[in-house]
Amino acid sequence: MNNHKPLFNQVTIIGVGLIGGSLALAGREQGIFNRVIGMGRNPGNLKKAKELGVIDDYALESEEGVRNADLVVIATPVSAIVPCIKNVAPHLKEGATISDVGSVKQEIVEQVDALDLQKIHFVGGHPIAGTENSGVEAAFPALFRGRKCCLTPSDKTNPAALEEIKRLWESLGSTVVTIESALHDKILGAVSHLPHFIAFTLVNFLDEINRFDNSLFEFSAGGLKDFTRIAGSDPEMWKDIALMNREHIVWLIDEYVHHLESLKNHILDKDSESLFRTVQRSRSVQRTIISTTEPNSPQKI
Ligand code: NAP
Repeated sequence: MNNHKPLFNQVTIIGVGLIGGSLALAGREQGIFNRVIGMGRNPGNLKKAKELGVIDDYALESEEGVRNADLVVIATPVSAIVPCIKNVAPHLKEGATISDVGSVKQEIVEQVDALDLQKIHFVGGHPIAGTENSGVEAAFPALFRGRKCCLTPSDKTNPAALEEIKRLWESLGSTVVTIESALHDKILGAVSHLPHFIAFTLVNFLDEINRFDNSLFEFSAGGLKDFTRIAGSDPEMWKDIALMNREHIVWLIDEYVHHLESLKNHILDKDSESLFRTVQRSRSVQRTIISTTEPNSPQKI
């Protein structure tokens, strides 16, 4: 339903995949984007995005793609975000805003601040919404509804541009949280990045065991499927997240290994009281997680 006046005449989205495509669909559905231009590495994918009605058109050259843009949103894997900004910034008109949706924020915000962009504004963002699927075919307009979106301003952020990006995400049904970029990375490292890397290694470990008995997965029930849904996520996106948020993720893995070791010791010691307490605590915490996680589905963890 279209409830809004256009906030932006032309929006250029670089990286028209799950998040970029969903943003295009949601912004057009809400009437807050008049015209959406897509950009990316692969003309075939951009053509597909146009055929699917996700974008109005696409451009292969930076100047053509952004010269009339009021807003440019970078929705590529995180390692490509700053290079994309460097690429398009010289072609933007005065007063235009650049934002991003990358899952890691501190390095991006610091690097963009160091570029000292003149006459254009940058606002770091991260919608806490997604699925394990990727690519434009997976995009859908309701993705951001009822979700949080983190904005990570620094002392260089233009207040009017921050307000504009806040209004954008609110118009798409998200609740905006303004948070310092380093804290964002610490929190998301714990609640999103660590669980993904545990899921990837668990699935690969089970696959190793499966080599000796090929029927292993035939015996799995819903629990394994539930626990490992996110193990089907995009490798390019996640290797980028690991490298960009490496400090927090390495610390979290070390701590997590200590916890696994202590669980192993409870089992070795036949310490039934500690084992009981471990599962009892987790059962109660899991209920809290369920009650504090927003209701929409599917969702990222
Ligand atoms: P995706 O579906 O794979 O889309 C990424 C898009 O970026 C693709 O259209 C890809 O198109 C394009 N791309 C990749 N490298 C590029 C480059 N060097 N230059 C230009 N375009 C490039 O991934 P996604 O899930 O939408 O994730 C996009 C961003 O959102 C990431 O930064 C991720 O951290 C963040 N994010 C993801 C989620 C999630 O749950 N998936 C949630 C919140 C935020 P081509 O391959 O055709 O170039």
